[in-house]
Amino acid sequence: MALRDMAIGVFVHGDPIAAIRKVKSLGLDNCQMLVPGPEWRTPEQVARILEEMRSAGVTVTCVFCGFPGESYADIPTIRDTVGLVPEATRAERVEMALDHAAFAKAIGAPVLAAHIGFVPDDRADPAYSAVVDAVRHICDRCAQLGLKFALETGQERAPVLLAFLKDVDRPNLGVNFDPANMMLYGSGDPIEALDLVGPYVIGAHCKDGDYPTQPGTLGTEYPLGQGKVGFPRFIGKLKELGYRGPLTIEREIEGEQQTRDIVAAIAMLEQIRG
Ligand code: MG
Repeated sequence: MALRDMAIGVFVHGDPIAAIRKVKSLGLDNCQMLVPGPEWRTPEQVARILEEMRSAGVTVTCVFCGFPGESYADIPTIRDTVGLVPEATRAERVEMALDHAAFAKAIGAPVLAAHIGFVPDDRADPAYSAVVDAVRHICDRCAQLGLKFALETGQERAPVLLAFLKDVDRPNLGVNFDPANMMLYGSGDPIEALDLVGPYVIGAHCKDGDYPTQPGTLGTEYPLGQGKVGFPRFIGKLKELGYRGPLTIEREIEGEQQTRDIVAAIAMLEQIRG
């Protein structure tokens, strides 16, 4: 089932069956999914998930890696715990990502994505080349499976991210562009960032936010349209770049308010996208 250009979707996590029902209940036909726990990745459960996707008419456009022990509490904690940058957990997380790629393949998702952590600004830092190698390894497994691998934006400024993409140098490597993250992490203007990394964009998060007000802290996430991203400008820029992939709404709160904010975001994006 082919999706239309710039199909509006939503980011989901938790029980995949409930998540797919939620996507359908929002009137959407696609989502990005945080990789569920290993108990959901058995052949029997994958068959259940595929059946639910078929009956709901929902496709998964991307599977996101998640690793135990990650915390997004504040910038130093993110630096120490998130993604492939922390050395102590790097090797085991690469192995986990390969498992996540197999799950993505099994449910027909064309892209695996991850926050890889804060890539060092200094390319001479030994951690830099180690992370380049780790990402190459994941890209190569994804390529064998016919998948792309996307780096979630936000933790690096655009020139650092662009240099990293070029250093990894794999044709199936791209970017899942989250404009709010660029702001939340104080990594620069997201629309200007698209001038640099635009050709690499293979996924887009529609999330809104603002810059941090104090060093070491994160900025604040807002419902779509209430932060500083400027979605007419963002969607316009994506169109200009020839981006046709999904627009995946991400709202990082829980409960009924999350649902209300997502419903409002769908209406707003439909208007802007046309
Ligand atoms: Mg995001």
